[in-house]
Amino acid sequence: MIEIQNFIKENVKNLIPYSSARSEFNGNEGIFLDANENPYGIYNRYPDPYQKNIKKKISQLKQIPENHIFLGNGSDEVLDVLMRIFLQPKQDSLLIFPPTYGMYDVLANINQIDIHKISLNSDFQLPIEEIKNFLEVHKPKMAILCNPNNPTGNSLDNIIEFLNIFEGIVVIDEAYIDFSQKPSFLNQLSNYPNVIVSQTFSKAWGLAGVRVGMAFAHPVIIQYMNAVKYPYNISLPNQKILEKALDNPQKVQKKIHKILENRKFLISKLSHLPIIQKIYPTDANFILVKVENANFIYKSLLEIPIIVRNRHSQIPNTLRITIGKKSELKILVQKLKEISKNL
Ligand SMILES: *Cc1c(COP(=O)(O)O)cnc(C)c1O
Repeated sequence: MIEIQNFIKENVKNLIPYSSARSEFNGNEGIFLDANENPYGIYNRYPDPYQKNIKKKISQLKQIPENHIFLGNGSDEVLDVLMRIFLQPKQDSLLIFPPTYGMYDVLANINQIDIHKISLNSDFQLPIEEIKNFLEVHKPKMAILCNPNNPTGNSLDNIIEFLNIFEGIVVIDEAYIDFSQKPSFLNQLSNYPNVIVSQTFSKAWGLAGVRVGMAFAHPVIIQYMNAVKYPYNISLPNQKILEKALDNPQKVQKKIHKILENRKFLISKLSHLPIIQKIYPTDANFILVKVENANFIYKSLLEIPIIVRNRHSQIPNTLRITIGKKSELKILVQKLKEISKNL
């Protein structure tokens, strides 16, 4: 079994974290003269640095103990904090599997972390044999798996095989897991102390503007993440919005259901269009399609304007289309029909 402490950066292990007024005394009642707050107003108080009320609700919903949960300012903060506790700049390296989410690369660059890239195979799956050979030579300290993967949309089939050959920290980014029929890795997390599962309120929960991401991991990892984050990383208004959303998880299920129906609608319409050469399998709230000339179609749609994501630079002649409202998708299909007539 992997000893987590051995993977923590030396300076983080030795860190004495900032102790905020609100973490030293955390009762709700009293005369608060400890944090130099203004006594007047609605948002005059610092928020709970550990978001206990929210974690209680997430814990019930996900059946994961509270001390296994971290909340960040979007998944971006979750990933950044993980790099900052595990990866020594200019020394340790990160393994990623393109085509995948662009932020992994950017965050590693900001943190001066070397990046190893092994491309997914033609089915956008992990090439296990190639990874094995690579790991005989290189020892990346961390790997990030995106499941379902963005921008391809598919789920990764061989995560366990990968975990069996990789001796390091593994982040599984499950931003789109709520749209998938396949189970979350959360069920297996207790068997893998080296794995961090990251999820978000930005997609299925419809709260991208609120900027909250979740990480689930062994309490030792969560402790270090808490020590490194900004003390008040989730604002008071945002904590209130989250609490309210978490009281109605069935609303989220309804939204997911609608989006999945819209996804089916869009796929059935697009499959009749000659302009669409291929629709890749998806477990997410978007589809990747292959076309004859992605740049041209992208630009033609922009004139409407309909904005899709041009992924030509990553996967030749592909567009990534988010599943919007049915009314929006109908307009998209109509415009694609018109564009194909003019080709
Ligand atoms: C959208 C997305 C996220 C969510 O990021 P937030 O910072 O939580 O909004 C995370 N990972 C992937 C792969 C995504 O596509």
